[in-house]
Amino acid sequence: MDKIYTHRDLGEIKISKNKRNKHIRLSIRKEEIRVSIPYHVSYNRAIEFIAKNESWINNTLEKQKNRREFIAEHQNVLPVLNTKKEIENARKEAKLILEPRLANIALKYGFKYNRVCIKNNKSNWGSCSSKKNINLNIRLIYLPEILADSVMIHELVHLHHMNHGPRFHKELDRLLKDYTNNSYTEERASKELLEWHLY
Ligand SMILES: [Zn+2]
Repeated sequence: MDKIYTHRDLGEIKISKNKRNKHIRLSIRKEEIRVSIPYHVSYNRAIEFIAKNESWINNTLEKQKNRREFIAEHQNVLPVLNTKKEIENARKEAKLILEPRLANIALKYGFKYNRVCIKNNKSNWGSCSSKKNINLNIRLIYLPEILADSVMIHELVHLHHMNHGPRFHKELDRLLKDYTNNSYTEERASKELLEWHLY
């Protein structure tokens, strides 16, 4: 059963009871606040919980709003690849441009990968498989060189760490700084990458 609670500052908050919940859970997605509570917990307890976490909620809302505004302001548009011909041409270009760059970076930092594949997808800029194959998005050719390279370095580092744990981030950050003479950290690269939306 769901209830809508109207908070004087935060507006409408959806409170729902969930059999599987052991604790009260607060979440904010797309600036929408939800509280999910176990069956035996009363709605009043949920309202108290919201009051207690008001500053966390406000901070999170603020962060999400800033991020949304940042993306809206900085939106860069990638060329549309619709026809077979457009995709074919972009793929040729991507092979010519990206493959040697990836090979050079790998050589410079001693990475060994198996195969590289140029992918036409909208789900990621790149990926790395456990078989040590690297996939690169065809649209990387439209990105500023440094950002495309940062994606390639990201995938290469996955050859050492198949996750996004602290050791992965540490190595990626170190290599990016080295590669760009300290002008790019991982944080800067990923922030700028956000300006380019794959869709
Ligand atoms: Zn990754």
